[in-house]
Amino acid sequence: MIIFDILSVFPEMFQSTLGSSLIKKSIDKGLIEVNLYNIRDYTRDRHRTTDDTPYGGGGGMVMKIEPVADALKTIVPAGDKACVILLSPQGEPFKQKTAEELSQYSRIVLICGHYEGVDERIREHMVDREISIGDYVLSGGELPAMVVVDAVSRLVPGFVGNSESVLYDSFSTGLLEGPHYTRPREYESWEVPEVLLSGHQKKIDEWRHRESLKRTLQRRPDMLKQADLTQEDKRILEELAGDPEFV
Ligand code: SAM
Repeated sequence: MIIFDILSVFPEMFQSTLGSSLIKKSIDKGLIEVNLYNIRDYTRDRHRTTDDTPYGGGGGMVMKIEPVADALKTIVPAGDKACVILLSPQGEPFKQKTAEELSQYSRIVLICGHYEGVDERIREHMVDREISIGDYVLSGGELPAMVVVDAVSRLVPGFVGNSESVLYDSFSTGLLEGPHYTRPREYESWEVPEVLLSGHQKKIDEWRHRESLKRTLQRRPDMLKQADLTQEDKRILEELAGDPEFV
């Protein structure tokens, strides 16, 4: 089981994600637990202030250090083990490998910034990792936190009905996954590849692997440099690259 503790000034944003689909099921099954903390509950002033103007001037507001620090100290008392993550567009890129690493923790704390972000001293002193979900700027860390919860939870055994399907997901093998088809066999003369109907599992597996290599070569050739390729994979890739129809 993985416990996610999420700190946000807009915890209500999580309701629909946590209340639907496989995330809801995995909460109900006790595979994951998600606790939402409103940073505003850790303020000490009458107005429950969570942000202030930046030192040095400039536009925008900055999230104050005290409410976030107090929330963290209360939620993860000294000595407790947890991976504390600050969501930030300046963090390390979030990849499948990051999700795999995080799935090894039993407790993950996610701090969602807003406005211009969180006072830098939180990152300097209270955070284990700073994670970005992509090279673009969102208005808050709530959507990125949901992305992390979803991608990590998928890797918890029992989250998806057929755990084998996760093994062949894009990026897990270092390749993109090949195409999928389901009934009907023919739609407006668009047919399902014959091999998938053959019942010959070895041939199906070979076809799927070849499609996976083909798709990666077409769409993400950069991934092939890191992928763990066999001699046969390399031969297939050379053959595909030399095929005028494929190029
Ligand atoms: N001023 C910051 C900058 O230029 O780096 C951007 C702040 S952003 C408007 C507000 C908050 O949204 C951030 O503190 C972070 O928590 C979250 N955020 C925005 N984009 C993100 C991304 N790509 N990945 C992760 N978190 C992001």
